[in-house]
Amino acid sequence: MKIMVAIKRVIDYAVKIRVKPDKSGVETSNVKMSMNPFDEIALEEALRIKESGRASEVVAVSVGPSQCVDTLRTGLAMGADRAIHVEFPGTLYPLSIAKIFKALVDAEKPGLLLLGKQAIDDDCNQTGQMVAGLLKWPQGTFASKVVLDEENKVVTVDREVDGGLETLCLDLPAVITTDLRLNQPRYATLPNIMKAKSKVIKKLTPQDLKVEIKSDLEVIQVTEPPKRKAGVILSSVDELIDRLKNEARVGPQWKRPHIIERGARRGYVRSNIIQTIER
Ligand code: AMP
Repeated sequence: MKIMVAIKRVIDYAVKIRVKPDKSGVETSNVKMSMNPFDEIALEEALRIKESGRASEVVAVSVGPSQCVDTLRTGLAMGADRAIHVEFPGTLYPLSIAKIFKALVDAEKPGLLLLGKQAIDDDCNQTGQMVAGLLKWPQGTFASKVVLDEENKVVTVDREVDGGLETLCLDLPAVITTDLRLNQPRYATLPNIMKAKSKVIKKLTPQDLKVEIKSDLEVIQVTEPPKRKAGVILSSVDELIDRLKNEARVGPQWKRPHIIERGARRGYVRSNIIQTIER
C-alpha cells in the first residue's frame, strides 16, 4: 500500500512573525521557512507504518512556490521514497489545495492520505476535511494514535476530544490528519541527507492536474494582536478576588474560584490570569 503525505512549507515555528506595513499579510522575505510541524508528524507516522512492513511506499507532496523543493528534500532525507511538487507561485487557499490533492490521489491511488491537522501559517484546519469530502473517503482528524490493519483494510484512529479519547475505525482508503501527540518526528541523518539528493521530485502544475486555482476568499487585513499588559504581583487572595470582580468583571458565573484561590496561595497567580479571563 502507498501512503501519500502532504507537506507544507511555512514560516519556521520559532520565527517572530512580523505583519507587513500595508497589512496585506505577514512578512515572508528573508525569513526562515521549514516544514509545517504537524506535517513532520504526518510524515513520521507514514515512515513508521512503512518500517513496520504495512506500507510499500511513502510519497511526499507539496504545493507552492519553487522553494517548496527544499522542504520536500527534507522530507526525502527523513525517509520518504519520492516526492511531487505542484508548483504555483501565488496565494493558495484550502479548497484549491484539496482539489489538487484529489487530482493527485486519483492519479497515484494511495491507500492512505496523511496531512497535518493545521498549517501554522494560516491556521485554517480545513484541507484534510475538504479533501476527504471531495474524495468521499472516511476521515480521522486530530489523530493521536493510528493503527493500520492492512489485512482487514481498516485503520483505527484515536482522537483527543474534549471529554476524553474517541476511537474511530475507518475503512481504507482514508484521510487522516495528525495531532501533536501522535509521535516525535525524527531528524534527518547526514547519510540520509546525501541519499535524498538522488531521490526523484516530480514537477507538476495545477494545469497538468486540470485544477483551476480560484481565490474563494479574500483576506481583508492582517493586524498584530494587541500588546499584552505587563503583569503585577498581587499581595493577597482578597486583592485578587477584588480585581477579578471589579476589573475583569468575573461574576458568580465563574465556576471554579477555588482554582484561582489555590493558585494565588501558591504565589503564582499574577494579573495575566485576569487577562486570560478577560479574553
Ligand atoms: P490548513 O487546512 O491550511 O490548516 O492545512 C492543513 C494541512 O493541509 C497541512 O498541515 C498540510 O498537511 C496540508 N496542506 C495545506 N496546504 C498545503 C500545501 N500548500 N502543500 C502541501 N500540503 C498542504
